[in-house]
Amino acid sequence: MSAHPNPDAGVEGRCLCGGIRFAIEFPTLFCAHCHCRWCRLAHGAAFVTWVGAAEARFRIIAGDDLLTWFHASVESRRGFCSRCGSTLFFASSVAPGEMHVTRASLPGPLDRAPTVHVFADEAVVWLNDAASLPHITGEHAALAHYTAIRPTVPE
Ligand SMILES: [Zn+2]
Ligand SMILES: [Zn+2]
Repeated sequence: MSAHPNPDAGVEGRCLCGGIRFAIEFPTLFCAHCHCRWCRLAHGAAFVTWVGAAEARFRIIAGDDLLTWFHASVESRRGFCSRCGSTLFFASSVAPGEMHVTRASLPGPLDRAPTVHVFADEAVVWLNDAASLPHITGEHAALAHYTAIRPTVPE
């Protein structure tokens, strides 16, 4: 994919096992890093980067039978793959007509980059110094046993 995707085109995403595949047509609606406690718990991650899509521009291509929805609030549901556990989607009555999709499940550049940190007041303090820590690449000897791992899922 080029650095400047065709604004009339879109992108296809997937879960880790590849069982769920889905497509978004551009334009997307937003892209934001969410630091809320609920995203943190649901994804087991410091924060979650979300891409908003109009429901009309979002579709499941494969794996509808694997897609499970967890109703984490009265208003909202979170979609994940029941086979590999990938957290993929968020939909809520407070954002009608929208499907929020995890940026990490989408390859390459999109029609927009993240523009904002939301619920920044809930951000974890253990992320504060992240940029200043040592950065070790995959070539480092300390990571050799991880780079030897052989995936059982599609690349
Ligand atoms: Zn999966
Ligand atoms: Zn959140």
